[in-house]
Amino acid sequence: MRVLITGGAGFIGSHTVVSLIGSGHEPVIVDNLSNARESVVGRIAEITGVRPEFHRLDVRDSEGLRRVLDAGFDACMHFAALKSVGESTEEPLRYYDNNVSGTVSLLEALATSGVRFLVFSSSATVYGEPTTLPVTEDMPTGSAANPYGWTKIMMEQVLRDLQLADPTWNVALLRYFNPVGAHHTGLIGEDPQGVPSNLMPYIARVAAGLLPHLSVFGGDYPTPDGTGVRDYVHVMDVAEGHVAALDTLAGRRGVHVYNLGTGRGHTVLEVVKAYEETTGRPVPYEIVGRRPGDVAASWANVDKAAEELSWRASRDLAAMCADSWRWQTTAR
Ligand code: NAD
Ligand code: UDP
Repeated sequence: MRVLITGGAGFIGSHTVVSLIGSGHEPVIVDNLSNARESVVGRIAEITGVRPEFHRLDVRDSEGLRRVLDAGFDACMHFAALKSVGESTEEPLRYYDNNVSGTVSLLEALATSGVRFLVFSSSATVYGEPTTLPVTEDMPTGSAANPYGWTKIMMEQVLRDLQLADPTWNVALLRYFNPVGAHHTGLIGEDPQGVPSNLMPYIARVAAGLLPHLSVFGGDYPTPDGTGVRDYVHVMDVAEGHVAALDTLAGRRGVHVYNLGTGRGHTVLEVVKAYEETTGRPVPYEIVGRRPGDVAASWANVDKAAEELSWRASRDLAAMCADSWRWQTTAR
């Protein structure tokens, strides 16, 4: 299928483009490069042997989108969004404009062009503090701890309302848990600007000696070692989940919701230990106070994706650490 990939130069988008090319699809990237580099396109070509079409474009530019869409598409995967939780609390309007208005603008352009198959990057953040674990797709959503989380809840609602109004839409809401790692070649990966706010990129920099130590946010949660539990999932597994959704859901109208995780939780200290063991590098840490807005524990029930998409994550925490480290130590 010919697929428009918004945010396709970013972390998850670029790995998905690699998987799509590997599965015989034709991805076309649209990205405004607000959090990515154009050189990613060349890296994708190096990995796959195919250089995907690339347009530097903002999804809020409806006219520009329509021109790209004129070439004809079967589907769209919508990754483009701002994603820093901390930044979203400081600049909420920028987040609502980029993420929510950007999605509305994209949907208008897609509708005009007759593309009604959308795979959307949602997040486990829509569940808020889970009441039971593991988290299933039918658990209620509706409360977020920050504007970033609210944009995801709102965009899901926009998509549900659109599909109700026009049942010819086919929408997949993929709720990612904690995507980490990188392509095994070390050629593409996560490239946060400045000091990383997410755990694994932060650990990678500590292991590389670029940051002195990791601050572990909270040691008194009701978890096996007192530190937060998350469902870390390899970014290539997440990428393959997108291909599975595209292949399986084509032609099936409706709103389809899937968790993308491994179904296993790891504490912060387990991740630190796995990183040290995999890389042979020390990761000094200090336990500090809890980070506002963090939940104690979150991991996915992944049965629905397994049953309906025939998709299951196959890479373990050691592979996530090894690939993160390879990317950290590869020249950019
Ligand atoms: P990323 O920042 O690496 O990728 C997003 C890409 O979108 C970037 O390349 C950026 O330049 C582009 N972009 C942003 N706003 C744009 C706009 N208005 N027009 C065009 N391009 C724009 O982030 P990522 O980690 O790859 O995340 C991809 C998606 O997955 C996002 O929607 C994010 O909210 C969601 N998500 C990410 C995680 C995670 O842990 N990384 C977890 C859950 C959900
Ligand atoms: N975390 C931490 N130190 C850091 C970054 C994260 O202890 O510098 C913890 C955080 O409290 C959470 C887990 O690591 O328990 C995952 O956090 P991340 O920001 O990567 O993802 P989130 O689940 O918040 O989206």
